[in-house]
Amino acid sequence: MKYEGMIFRPPSEADSLILQVTVGCSYNRCTFCAAYQKKRFRIKRFEEVKEDIDEASPYRIQRVFLADGDALSIPQKGLLEILSYLKLTLKGLERVGIYANAKDILRKDVEELRALKDLGLGILYLGLESGDPEVLKRIKKNATVDQLIRAGRRVKESAILLSVTVILGIGGVEHSQGHAAETGKVLTEMDPDYIGALSLMIVPGTPIAKEIETGHLVLPTPFGLIQELETMITHCQCTRCFFASNHASNYLPLRIQMPEQKEEALEQIREVLKRRDPELLRPEYLRAL
Ligand code: SF4
Repeated sequence: MKYEGMIFRPPSEADSLILQVTVGCSYNRCTFCAAYQKKRFRIKRFEEVKEDIDEASPYRIQRVFLADGDALSIPQKGLLEILSYLKLTLKGLERVGIYANAKDILRKDVEELRALKDLGLGILYLGLESGDPEVLKRIKKNATVDQLIRAGRRVKESAILLSVTVILGIGGVEHSQGHAAETGKVLTEMDPDYIGALSLMIVPGTPIAKEIETGHLVLPTPFGLIQELETMITHCQCTRCFFASNHASNYLPLRIQMPEQKEEALEQIREVLKRRDPELLRPEYLRAL
């Protein structure tokens, strides 16, 4: 497989074949994100992608993840070509996953998304980060709350699984509780199948790192982040969703089937907040991106 630069994938795609169909992110300006800073965006030619698929063809591969940052930005014809060839070549293939941003999704109608689903696109990962309009502007997310909700709903309507990421701490102390409450509400509107909560990790050289250096953004304390988690879950009324805060960046790893385990999880979080015992948190040296 020919990979260009560092490759990122969602934790749940750990066992997938990573097929790099684009290089970098076509937007690349979110203030907290350093993932593709050093890459100039391009869509790989189909011949390059085909060579990688051919190389993987002797192996039994059940899952494929299409990298890099927003591979859904590939025009429909190109995506159909890649998915068709994957289906034809990898006989045991069960699911293809992809990262997308709200604008990529909204450029496609439900019928186009269903056509991708019919060829194997089974899950789409969307970064919401925050449901607070002020925070979205500040982090330069390049999407409004309304666009993010419409994008999430469109994916659900197409019957592709929707996995949404949110970031604890990204509003700083100033927006902490507003960010948590509004994010919970937007998650309710989107009603995704999976929610992954990360905690903001600062990468040197990013615009958000400069905001912190200059004192324009003050990060919540570890218990402040857990308070955000409590508020977010309280406001999240998803109908059927798996909520995970077990990413390595978090202080309190949880795996919650919503709505069944929501109250039990909230009780656990409130107990941690009441006791304020650092021993109950994941140690700093074990936290990572
Ligand atoms: S859209 Fe995603 S990959 Fe691109 S800069 Fe923003 S967070 Fe990073």
